[in-house]
Amino acid sequence: MPSISNAKVQTSSPLILLRLIRDVMAQAASAQARLDQVVAVIAEGFASEVCSVYLLRAGDILELYASKGLLATSVHKTRLGVGRGLVGDIAASAEVLNLADAATHPKFEYRPETGEEIYASFAGVPILQRGKAIGVLVVQGKEARAYTPDQMEVLQTVAMVLSELAMSGQLVDSQEIKTATGGLVAEQVSGMRLSPGIAKAPAVLHQPQQVIINYVASDTDYEKERFGDAIRSLQEQFDHYIESSGLPEGDEQRELIEAYMMFTQDRGWNNRIAEAIASGLTAEAGVKKVQEELRAKMSQMASPYIKERIQDLEDLSNHLLQILLGKPVVPVGSELPEEYILVARALGPAELLDYDHKRIRGLILEEGSTTAHTAVIARAMDIPAIGKVEKATSLIQPGDMVILDAEGANVYIRPNDQVSQAMDVRIQQFARAAAEYESYRPLPAITLDGTRISLNINAGLFVDTASVQQEGIDGIGLYRTELPYMTSDHFPEVEVQRQLYAGMYEQLPDKRIIFRSFDIGGDKKVPYLHAGEEENPAMGWRATRIGLDRPGILRKQFRALIEAADGKPLHLLLPFIAQVSEFDAAKELLMQEMAQCKTKPSVLKLGIMIEIPSILWQLDDLMPRVDFVSIGSNDLMQFLFACDRGAVHMANSYDTLHPIMLRVVRSVLEKAAAHRVEVSFCGEMARKPLDALALIGVGVRSVSVSASAIGPLKAMIRSLNIAELEKYMDYLLQSSEPSVRNWLQAYANDHGIKA
Ligand code: PEP
Ligand code: MG
Repeated sequence: MPSISNAKVQTSSPLILLRLIRDVMAQAASAQARLDQVVAVIAEGFASEVCSVYLLRAGDILELYASKGLLATSVHKTRLGVGRGLVGDIAASAEVLNLADAATHPKFEYRPETGEEIYASFAGVPILQRGKAIGVLVVQGKEARAYTPDQMEVLQTVAMVLSELAMSGQLVDSQEIKTATGGLVAEQVSGMRLSPGIAKAPAVLHQPQQVIINYVASDTDYEKERFGDAIRSLQEQFDHYIESSGLPEGDEQRELIEAYMMFTQDRGWNNRIAEAIASGLTAEAGVKKVQEELRAKMSQMASPYIKERIQDLEDLSNHLLQILLGKPVVPVGSELPEEYILVARALGPAELLDYDHKRIRGLILEEGSTTAHTAVIARAMDIPAIGKVEKATSLIQPGDMVILDAEGANVYIRPNDQVSQAMDVRIQQFARAAAEYESYRPLPAITLDGTRISLNINAGLFVDTASVQQEGIDGIGLYRTELPYMTSDHFPEVEVQRQLYAGMYEQLPDKRIIFRSFDIGGDKKVPYLHAGEEENPAMGWRATRIGLDRPGILRKQFRALIEAADGKPLHLLLPFIAQVSEFDAAKELLMQEMAQCKTKPSVLKLGIMIEIPSILWQLDDLMPRVDFVSIGSNDLMQFLFACDRGAVHMANSYDTLHPIMLRVVRSVLEKAAAHRVEVSFCGEMARKPLDALALIGVGVRSVSVSASAIGPLKAMIRSLNIAELEKYMDYLLQSSEPSVRNWLQAYANDHGIKA
């Protein structure tokens, strides 16, 4: 056995070594030529006989890309799987190895073609990118010696610089690196379906990566100062936020920010970055190096508590990088792949709209609920989406191949070949069914026995006006006007709103548009409203309640709508009305505004959302007052059954096809019919063919749904005989079961109804 001595060999100063590498990297030579020089510089600097670089290729293979010391004939020939041998072990674990006598390690496998059998010492570090090992940097020597901690630090720093060269696409095709898993295991996680569909594409994480140009410092003291300044500036930002937000002590959000401030003082984290800078990196490269190491650790950690702490440090690093690089973190369209699955912890409606929706194949959120607005937009855009996928942003690395199966509410991360092939079959089946539905879209929505169903589109947060133009689409049954309130830092001006609404009239001159006045509050938070903390925001200061307490805001919106209509019909829907007197008060404001506006709509139709149960017992008073009503099952269901619409753990507690829900709908229809008031149904349940079948069976003749639901609904309607169905629904409505779903499904199957 060789004798072990500890670091007797002279190593160049880390700074000199790094600068030499920087000079090599700056040369105009090819990437391969520069890599060859880098290994030569390191071998010399470390006084080691061997320095090699292995890079990850498709299929999780590590290929020897450059070597000083191993036989030249083995370069680009020697390949080993991730997990195999010492090099494969480093890639799989993303951990460093420092062995005085490599042959004694249980993972040791030697490759005769490289001639490495004569070397005893072995030190290897992973080349990391977003927590994934995309290569391994190795030094080997004849003498049995362990490398010092300082030397290992230098190797890691060099690996950091090499990661950029490796990711440049000039050595290994970028797509190859992205599809290789780098030893991260395949995972299957589940969540909750937000928008239907199945998709397979590489992942893009919502918080994009910052691009660092200068890795190697020219003046290390200056870089230390920059880091200190950035930390102070971050602390000031937090201080300022706490002061300006007026959050009281003990407030959850305030505590979170305070916890973040404490993390900025985390000694271990600060020291790691300071060490990285001292070893010759720029401040930003130092922050990124430590961030990479933490990410690599996170993917290996089991403890959710530690993962969360690491996630916090990850967030901090991103903030710091933003300060150091002096630019906000925005996704740049051209840097994104042609198609991708977007992964985010949480994503607001406006943020989703920032992405080019033609490229997004799917959406995975750690948060989110079916009736939340990002989900509504995803459905309108026809993007399959899954929410409540715990730890999605930690489990999924950018570029990982991901399969999102919204139908089964599953996400397959880095799927193996078997899963991938099985899902390809499902994707094809789904595409065939979608193509069949597509063929129904231009057909009229008429039942077999000749009843026409009015189909309308829910819009506002996102509108695909082309789908409203189609045959058999009557118009927009619900135009949600909240978005400009949510995406602005103040109440939108009348003119801004007027232009938006006028644009809708212009785009859809022949269609009816039902505008709903703002339903802000609840889950549609508007920070500048200062609503204060509410225990139950869904039942709090929301929608028309805000408008009646702050009439100026509501009157401004009414003015914008009246002026936008300008001689055309105005259909206006008031949300969240709990008592008739609220309708009267809102109507009074509308009339005052009408009297003051120079232009008038040709016709004014005023209606309310039926979404608060108390109004169900006031229908006799209400119906003579309104022109139309629209049933909003999203809220109505949550209040009837006292079941939070956003709570994932409650999602399956009550079925929308509960006979009580259907009886409520029928009673609204009966009361409305007596006063010739039009009823439409705009809640999310109407987009599901079986639910819509039940609604039609109790008398609904007008629904408003997201555009993607039109094909399946038309297929159902055109295969349906209403007279027979109505009789069967009479029978089902007497049921005391918690759901009539199974009976109705059996009926649909027996009668050839496509539901
Ligand atoms: C509803 O409550 O059913 C509805 C359509 O309104 P929103 O989802 O905007 O609350
Ligand atoms: Mg509602």
